[in-house]
Amino acid sequence: MTDLPLNERNALKDSFILTELEKARVEVSQDGTVKHLWCLSDGEFIESVLIPTRKRLTLCISSQAGCAMGCTFCATGWGGFQRQLTTGEIVSQYSASRRWAEHHLGTTISNIVYMGMGEPLSNRKAVHDSLSILNQGYAVGARRITVSTVGVVPGILELAERPEQFRLALSLHAPISELRLSLIPLEKRHPLPEVLSALKRFNQSGGKRITFEYTMIRGVNDALELIAPLVELARSVEAYVNLIPFNPIPYQNWEPSEHHRIKNFAEILNKQGVPAAIRETRGRDIDAACGQLKARALVQLERPREPED
Ligand code: SAH
Ligand code: SF4
Repeated sequence: MTDLPLNERNALKDSFILTELEKARVEVSQDGTVKHLWCLSDGEFIESVLIPTRKRLTLCISSQAGCAMGCTFCATGWGGFQRQLTTGEIVSQYSASRRWAEHHLGTTISNIVYMGMGEPLSNRKAVHDSLSILNQGYAVGARRITVSTVGVVPGILELAERPEQFRLALSLHAPISELRLSLIPLEKRHPLPEVLSALKRFNQSGGKRITFEYTMIRGVNDALELIAPLVELARSVEAYVNLIPFNPIPYQNWEPSEHHRIKNFAEILNKQGVPAAIRETRGRDIDAACGQLKARALVQLERPREPED
């Protein structure tokens, strides 16, 4: 920026860091999904995933290295929490992935979902700033950006206050508290009724859309009796329901619900006036599917041994 006086350039240099993510690995799935493993400046690792479909190119970004929430069905949760990401590290996943996509796929990113590693609403300052930069700086429309949360109520309320129409996904996974508690430890701190009233505020704050994410685990949360309470919840906040077949993870032996059961859920929900869709699993062969991101474990298994003293 040679149009600035030297002392201002120096002041900028002293006050800001230009974060560049170091690409540690790129894997491309048979279905076209692309997983980037990034190495951060302190040696932590995170992942982000590009998901091409016919009409869109969606980028799934991480908001934390690891996650402290410990949800029982999620590989990131099993790996524990390493640290918060900075605003720069969140935004750089977008700028670096976009560069990669434009170069290798000849197309740009149309949608962003905060569904990679970590709980975005537990890293609120950096996530809010990254939302502003992506929306205002990079001109990604607010309705094309979705923040996914497991139910951090103060974070939902803050997002409701923002004037932009960012979308919110609630990882619901069970429509009744007792069952939800067995999957999501946060249910104890923020039980469903409290989450629901925060969602109502969000829903009433002007043209904002809510999606429920419901990962279907065979014999765990796919009983037909759960459909009625799910319908009631979805109707109360006009939510769209995404049914996600459970992606197996190494730490326990659960399986996805059978396809006909997932279809059954979707059909009944739709018949009862709740828009629902089955989210096709992408990138399972490279461990890039929902809940399978575990950069740290992956790297620890495969990192060459340090020479011993
Ligand atoms: N922490 C946030 C965002 C990251 S998780 C959240 O929980 O919402 C992104 C999505 O993947 C969430 O809906 C999560 O519940 C889902 N998920 C986690 N593990 C999964 C698994 N093994 N199979 C399918 N979906 C999973
Ligand atoms: Fe964290 Fe989301 Fe995984 Fe739960 S599902 S452990 S909140 S990343």
